[in-house]
Amino acid sequence: MPEKKFQPPKGMRDIYPEEMALLQQAFSKIREIMRVYNFKEVEPTKVEMFETLAAKSGEEIEREIYAFEDKAGRRLGLRFDLTVGMARMVASSAYAKPIRWFCIADMFRYEAPQKGRYRAFWQWDAEIFGSKSIYADAECIALGCDILSAFGIDFEVRVSSRKLVEAIMREIGVPTNKLLDAFRCVDKLQKLSKDRLLEEFERRGIDKKMAASILDALNYRGDFKSVMEEVRNKFNSKEVKNALDELVELEKALRSFGIDDKCVLDLSIVRGLDYYTGIVFEAYTTNKKALGSALFGGGRYDGLVGTYGQEMPAVGLAGGMERLMEVLKAENKLPEVKEEVDYFVAYINERFIDRAAEVLARLRKKGFVCEMDIMNRNLSAQLRYASKINAKKVVIVGEKEIKEGKVTVRDMKSGEEKMISVDAL
Ligand code: AMP
Repeated sequence: MPEKKFQPPKGMRDIYPEEMALLQQAFSKIREIMRVYNFKEVEPTKVEMFETLAAKSGEEIEREIYAFEDKAGRRLGLRFDLTVGMARMVASSAYAKPIRWFCIADMFRYEAPQKGRYRAFWQWDAEIFGSKSIYADAECIALGCDILSAFGIDFEVRVSSRKLVEAIMREIGVPTNKLLDAFRCVDKLQKLSKDRLLEEFERRGIDKKMAASILDALNYRGDFKSVMEEVRNKFNSKEVKNALDELVELEKALRSFGIDDKCVLDLSIVRGLDYYTGIVFEAYTTNKKALGSALFGGGRYDGLVGTYGQEMPAVGLAGGMERLMEVLKAENKLPEVKEEVDYFVAYINERFIDRAAEVLARLRKKGFVCEMDIMNRNLSAQLRYASKINAKKVVIVGEKEIKEGKVTVRDMKSGEEKMISVDAL
């Protein structure tokens, strides 16, 4: 193979045909699930005004995204998720609520690349705008479960509540102006070692003692009832109680949707972005050998749409396509995508190339997948190529065929040949 002289930028990947075929098949599967949930497909722009991207996350977001100036000096950035763009779109529209939108598209983040983490990657994303109901949150979780189940993945959804975690943090004395910093640190729990995590807390002005008690207080994962019981025994503010009441409602909804057995309560899930306000969740494979990072994540963000001009409650989720594919690969569950070619049009002598081209055009009009020799090969080389591309049949154009107004068709599996008119193909 020739040396790769020109490489894609760091953290970015090319998609070759075999992978593209798998991806397209996966997209179709996901689109079908979106359809039965009655989500409508949209796509916000790839490039946003920087102020749109920073509206909720603050200027700090610049470090984590691709931001640049256009030739007229406008500050722009590449989208890092689809939620921001859809929230901006929905804020300036007047569709009947609830608005149920989805998008499958590529994202850009200036991350430190590693396995399962890229600087450009694909997501499926669905959002419900305009509903405060906990059933909207539960529907999002159910959608994520249905998507992963459709691919045969064993997984669990770790559910949490920003309201509950915030109430617990307040009760253990985290000052209001440090709450978002604390969330951002807790979100890194999986990514960083304990020491690095404590340093991160310190960098954000939360001392090690306070950081340790935050981590201690959030160290609960298990079925909803037992985790809620633990929390009730330790914390008793009104805010904690209200947040627990909401979780009781959510558990009921998850049960009605038949996905309660897929969900655990895990208080260490808080999500990194600042816009989340309520229920949050992330899904992980339960296969210990497969990738440890999240397959999808999401939650409620009731304040974001308002930032763009129209107050509206909202909840949504997004899943990574590369991670889904990596888990499927690790579990040997990648479907076999065999792209078959109906006909390869071969010719015995270059003199017949125009007749071959006419036959090819007629086959294509009929909807057959086909191609003809454009490499100037001899017939046996053409046949070898036809079998390489999995052509089911080869149409051969020669002198005799042209005289009789026919073509020879060779079945590549049986080797059988017959002469027929083009219309009979
Ligand atoms: P997030 O918006 O960060 O919650 O991302 C939603 C989903 O996208 C995650 O659960 C992952 O499956 C996927 N994802 C996020 N960041 C990356 C990345 N850098 N590379 C590949 N997939 C990612």
